[in-house]
Amino acid sequence: MIPAPFQYLRASTVDEALTLLASHGDDAKVLAGGHSLLPLMKLRLAAPEYLVDIGPLDELRYVRLEDGEVVIGALSRYSALVQDPVLLEHAPLLAHVSGEVGDRQVRHRGTIGGSLVHADSAADLPAAVLASDAVLVARGPSGERRIPAAEFFLGPFTTPLEPAELLTEIRLPAQTGQGWAFEKFTRRAIDWAMVGVTVVGGRVGLVNMGGVPLRATATEEALAAGASIEDAAALAAEGTNPPDEPHATAEYRRHLARVLTRRALTQASR
Ligand SMILES: Cc1cc2nc3c(=O)[nH]c(=O)nc-3n(C[C@H](O)[C@H](O)[C@H](O)COP(=O)(O)OP(=O)(O)OC[C@H]3O[C@@H](n4cnc5c(N)ncnc54)[C@H](O)[C@@H]3O)c2cc1C
Repeated sequence: MIPAPFQYLRASTVDEALTLLASHGDDAKVLAGGHSLLPLMKLRLAAPEYLVDIGPLDELRYVRLEDGEVVIGALSRYSALVQDPVLLEHAPLLAHVSGEVGDRQVRHRGTIGGSLVHADSAADLPAAVLASDAVLVARGPSGERRIPAAEFFLGPFTTPLEPAELLTEIRLPAQTGQGWAFEKFTRRAIDWAMVGVTVVGGRVGLVNMGGVPLRATATEEALAAGASIEDAAALAAEGTNPPDEPHATAEYRRHLARVLTRRALTQASR
């Protein structure tokens, strides 16, 4: 499997990356960790003429606390997030979820920004970011804009980012002291989630329960109205549209969503 020919352009600053993207428009693609884009190129499902490599840009690799918000640079790799002291204290759900992605090699190359922009509903970080009420910061030719996570996942592999825009950082309210949990159901140890559930502070994000990562709104509303965990979790599959496949039917995934939500809420309440 060999990709179609492309020109490799390496950006040495964010500004340079933005200039390269602006001058090549729809013909260019950003390359971060390459763990989603390169497989697509090898399968020829993506064939950009230009690859703008932002992988080396350390200026987009950081985690810090700013006025009660946790701010994560888009190029932060999973392997760094797992052990980041700021994240462990103020957004432990994201640190933990990062450690559950793929295998060691994937976690050493893959970036949180790449996962969010790739917008695969089977990926783990998008549901965690959604449950964290995060805001995604993008920079492009017309400056910076902030997009709430709830408005970022428009459809399968589709986000509101323009071709000349970069996702630069993810901001979320600090979750210090809030109960959290992640339940990921896989066939084999390092597989993608058949279904996953992220919980933090009473908010619930679902992995692989539709074309986009979802919030289990009926469950959240029931909890806010004082329902028991058991009753609230029974509503976790409301409004979802999970994939229907021979190895996991839609009905089976709905069942998993209810069971995993009950487990995650119970864990988060301890
Ligand atoms: C074997 C394997 C197993 C995996 N298992 C899991 C798993 O269990 N759970 C899981 O969640 N994921 C899994 N993944 C996916 C992995 O998390 C990817 O690394 C991640 O989805 C993409 O991050 P990346 O940095 O590699 O992005 P890339 O592949 O470099 O880019 C992905 C897309 O995002 C765009 N992009 C990247 N960064 C930016 C940016 N800052 N601004 C604008 N556009 C950008 C690119 O143009 C491209 O369209 C797996 C991948 C592999 C290969």
